[in-house]
Amino acid sequence: MAKRRSAAGQVPERADALLADDLRALVDSISARAAAGDWKAHIAACRDIALIVVGFCSARRRSEIAAIQFGDLRIVSDEAGSKEQWITMRIRGSRTSLTSVAYAQLPRSRDSRYCPWCRLLDWLMVVTVHDNTIRTAKDHGEPEDQQVRAARRSVIRLLDNLSDRDPQLHHCDRELPVHRRATAPVWRALAKSTRYLPADTGHPLTDQTIPLILKKRCQEAGFDSARIARISGHSLRSGFITQARADGIASEDIKRQSGHKRTDTVDHYYDSAPSYHKNAANQLQL
Ligand SMILES: [Zn+2]
Repeated sequence: MAKRRSAAGQVPERADALLADDLRALVDSISARAAAGDWKAHIAACRDIALIVVGFCSARRRSEIAAIQFGDLRIVSDEAGSKEQWITMRIRGSRTSLTSVAYAQLPRSRDSRYCPWCRLLDWLMVVTVHDNTIRTAKDHGEPEDQQVRAARRSVIRLLDNLSDRDPQLHHCDRELPVHRRATAPVWRALAKSTRYLPADTGHPLTDQTIPLILKKRCQEAGFDSARIARISGHSLRSGFITQARADGIASEDIKRQSGHKRTDTVDHYYDSAPSYHKNAANQLQL
C-alpha cells in the first residue's frame, strides 16, 4: 500500500507505536519521578499520565486530543441497563469529519494505575480547582499575584490529597468536575514561570507539544534512543491500533474508536509494525 503523502508531497516518517507495555512503563516511570519531586513535578506527572492514557485509549489524532475542552466530556451510562459507563469525548476539528460531530469513548481499565478515568479525572480536578480558585479570587477583587498564590495553594493541597490515596484502588467512581467555562481547554502547557499552570483563557497545549512530552517521558523511562527518535505525536494512536489488532480486536471496533473510515488503513498499522510488536509472546498474560 502506498504511503500517504502530505499536501507538500512529503512522505511522513513512520511513527514508532507505543504499545500497552510501553504505556505501563511510561506511567510507572512518571509516577516514580513525581514521588521524588516537588509540586511542579506532581502537576506535570498528573497531566502527562492523563494525556498518555487518554491519547492511547481514545486512539485519536494528537490535534484532536489537544483540542478537547471541558464541555466535550460527558459520562454516559449504558442504555441497556447494565452498570457499564464510559466517558465520551466530543472530537472537534477532525480531519475526516469537519462537518459532522464525532465521539471517542473512554472505558475504565482493570488496573487503576493506568485507568483513563482515574487519571483523567485527577487532571480535570487539578485544572478545575486551579481555574475556579483564580476566578473566585478575581471576583473578590484580589490582585493577580494573590490570585495565583491562592490557586497554587489549592492545587498543592489537592495534589497532597491525591498522593495520599492507595494507587492500587480505583478512584473513578465520581462525577466529572464542574468547570465554570465549558470552553476551557483540558490540556495546558506548563510554564517555567512562578505561575506554572496557565489560566483557562491562556494558550492550550498545542499538538506540537505532545510529541515533545512523549519523547521526554520515553527518555526518562530509559527507552532506546533510536526508538525515541521515531516517537511522534502519532505513536499513541498507532500503538492502540497495533495493540488492539494484536489482541484480536475486530477492525470494525477499532475504526469506531480511532475514527478511521477505511479498514485497510487500520490493517496497515498492524501489517507495517515491526515484527517484535507482533510477536505472539507479547500477547501472553505473564
Ligand atoms: Zn479508575
